[in-house]
Amino acid sequence: MSILANRLSAVKPSPTVAVTAKAAELKSQGLDVIGLGAGEPDFDTPNHIKYAGKEAIDKGQTKYTPPQGTPMLRKAIVDKFKRENHLDYKTNQVAVGVGLKQLIFNAFIATVQEGDEIIVPAPYWVSYPDIVLLCGGTPIFVSCDENSQFKLSAEALEAAISPKTKWVVLNSPNNPTGSVYSEVELKALTDVLVKHPHVWIMADDIYEHLVYDGIKFATPGQVESRLLDRTLTMNGVSKAFSMTGWRLGYACGPVELIKAMNMIQGQSATHPSSISQAAAVAALNGPIDFLGPRNATFRERRDMAVRMLNEAPGISCQVPEGAFYVYPSCAGAIGKTTSNGRKLGSDTDFVQALLDESLVAAVQGAAFGLSPYFRISYATSTEALEEACTRIQKFCDSLT
Ligand code: PMP
Ligand code: GLU
Repeated sequence: MSILANRLSAVKPSPTVAVTAKAAELKSQGLDVIGLGAGEPDFDTPNHIKYAGKEAIDKGQTKYTPPQGTPMLRKAIVDKFKRENHLDYKTNQVAVGVGLKQLIFNAFIATVQEGDEIIVPAPYWVSYPDIVLLCGGTPIFVSCDENSQFKLSAEALEAAISPKTKWVVLNSPNNPTGSVYSEVELKALTDVLVKHPHVWIMADDIYEHLVYDGIKFATPGQVESRLLDRTLTMNGVSKAFSMTGWRLGYACGPVELIKAMNMIQGQSATHPSSISQAAAVAALNGPIDFLGPRNATFRERRDMAVRMLNEAPGISCQVPEGAFYVYPSCAGAIGKTTSNGRKLGSDTDFVQALLDESLVAAVQGAAFGLSPYFRISYATSTEALEEACTRIQKFCDSLT
């Protein structure tokens, strides 16, 4: 008999984490693999943030902190939401986690019961459904079409809500599509949610600062204050501040939920590293002008990737407004055969063959719940990205 709990049977390893590990392994074997799998900025953590981490060590801030985070960090988070999102939270409404991923886990484990439904618009970030399953809930997928920039419509949301719906997950800018909901689009969704008081809103805003072309970011709690008593507004320092390895995410919401999440934190990780918390204070309170040049670089890479992908036979790619992903369709390559004689029956076959035969690592659309697509992260050096796109073009050219 297996030692493993039944609830694990529905859960699988994270495909984005797996592809990153696979690319690293092939590289360590001496293969010239270009990894476009990881959703991780290639930029370094800004110096003022690194110094704050070093200073925390030197000053002996190396002991346990409260599970809900240091007072300085909680204040910095409250100030950030006020300053940037016009949201008035109190310090007892703050939870901090070992990355936002852990807070999503804490929120679901605190609230989801057997039979509860969680609406997850597809394409979705790979971890939402598996965390829901781990917590005993049922993810309800709502496919969002490329013609509507992969965005959830008010009608589709309304149709997906049932008496069993506990949460709806909204992620803008979106991983994997890069789509950004405008304030008007969000308002259409929040108008539906106002009518269904049993549904809670999880707003995953981790790509907030990565928007291009003058696009304005908006978050549900800001668009509709009547939803604030059932909205969990979530964010983190991983993406905007290039701090993936520091593992620091944060969330604000109603006190009852936050208290429960902090209790779970106190019974598990206890808290994120004291050093990362000090660095996050510097990130949130400090200047963000470094984002301008970084975002300009991201935008140039996005435009290059979209142009080069659209030149590849069988591929078509929209221009997304945010995050650092593009989500091209590979419909025109499906059914074709590679020069090594492999038949491409799905987007999974496509990315597998691309890795094996052209040494480019991407992630199949199937992992994000919408095929036939694949995700490319352009958070990699411009030279590597250009070379990868050239390889994709050659790979597609060679298909018969
Ligand atoms: N949400 C989304 C949409 C993401 O892409 C990520 C990236 N891993 C996370 C949450 C979690 O980020 P982290 O745990 O690094 O804060
Ligand atoms: N969010 C990133 C991605 O989608 C990092 C890996 C992960 O945590 O999924 O690639």
